[in-house]
Amino acid sequence: MDSYRGVRTALIVGAGVAGLTAATALARAGWRVEIVEVSPSRATHGWGLCLTGPSLRALAELGVAEACLAEGHGMSVITHVDVHGEPADQVQLPRLIGARRPAMVGIARPVLHRILHTEAERCGVVVHHGLTVAAVDQEAELVRVRLPDGTERQAGLVVGADGIRSSARGLLGLRASLDYHGQMVWRALVRRPSWGTGIHHFAGKVNTAGLVPLSDSRAYVFLTENGVERDVLPDAELAPRLRKLLEPFPGRVAELAPLVSVSESVIRRPVRTHFLQGGWNRGSGVVIGDAAHAPAPQMASGTALAIEDGLVLAQELGRHESIGAGLKAFVSRRAQRCRTLVETSVAIAGLERARRHDEAYPLVDACHRLMAEPA
Ligand SMILES: Cc1cc2nc3c(=O)[nH]c(=O)nc-3n(C[C@H](O)[C@H](O)[C@H](O)COP(=O)(O)OP(=O)(O)OC[C@H]3O[C@@H](n4cnc5c(N)ncnc54)[C@H](O)[C@@H]3O)c2cc1C
Repeated sequence: MDSYRGVRTALIVGAGVAGLTAATALARAGWRVEIVEVSPSRATHGWGLCLTGPSLRALAELGVAEACLAEGHGMSVITHVDVHGEPADQVQLPRLIGARRPAMVGIARPVLHRILHTEAERCGVVVHHGLTVAAVDQEAELVRVRLPDGTERQAGLVVGADGIRSSARGLLGLRASLDYHGQMVWRALVRRPSWGTGIHHFAGKVNTAGLVPLSDSRAYVFLTENGVERDVLPDAELAPRLRKLLEPFPGRVAELAPLVSVSESVIRRPVRTHFLQGGWNRGSGVVIGDAAHAPAPQMASGTALAIEDGLVLAQELGRHESIGAGLKAFVSRRAQRCRTLVETSVAIAGLERARRHDEAYPLVDACHRLMAEPA
């Protein structure tokens, strides 16, 4: 068994969803785990997340689903509203953690990160903030990792969980190409309107918009802007511009525009995807989460894949004598599911750009059903 001085050791790059989940699952299996996280503090900024059934199921396996439901907003229905402002369809999502539990949860990103951080530290994981990795050298039974300050760490396993623009990926000798899909996505934290008890999705003539509740008092408005170049707007322009983009929508969206004007946080991000071809592992190193596969946010499932990766990684490493064999089994168990999700999300983005929303809905539905299968 690969180990360093008798204990299996792992160094994880990135304390996001994938990194914290993998760290907790490995620590529970007896590994000594350290994380290096480039962000100088534990505080995470950001908007909200919609965590679908597979996320909740994986969080339940990690023992933190109830904490997420207590601090977030549980829900089970997506209401699709057509371009005329009329309800077109109501989709009941599969309830994967029990018939009486919600199918999904809306939660603020900082809340999810706090819950995952607390659980990781409770399991003995050490998180170093303000640190990254400068070089990775693989030897027979251990990996030497050089930090930017010149100091060195050694571990039996290195996990790159540093997001879509991962630098660990390059240091392990893996190459990814990111695709931009001519869409920018918007998120604005707002006061929750009383009717916002489930997800609402509004089709527009050009763009799509919607609302996801995050707690009793808060929600986020989302909008996907179609057929635009990738650019960066000054912060001061974000709220007025989003408000303008919401204007053409009929019906209830009119109630969201004034809420956006007083939003404490409006963000705009490019829709970029990638799927790492040719394996995600090299020697005793592997990448997981968005570093290995990043779907477009339209399927709201990137977090589910990231959490599942962490759990499955620990399972497969526990089942195999050598780290190399465990990593190979991990990648072969995960690749098809992650590829399907990335490809479906790209197809949905394409249908949205072509304004063929009616064709996108069944695809979303079918993909949610596929994701409901065990990871
Ligand atoms: C606008 C938007 C909305 C989304 N909405 C949803 C949603 O509703 N539901 C959903 O499931 N998914 C959603 N996603 C996708 C989801 O955010 C990602 O799939 C998920 O965050 C991936 O987790 P991760 O841990 O792999 O990466 P990340 O969350 O990106 O975490 C990476 C971590 O690594 C750290 N890091 C980066 N570089 C380094 C480095 N060099 N050294 C050390 N640390 C480093 C970062 O600071 C961060 O803490 C959305 C994505 C976007 C862009």
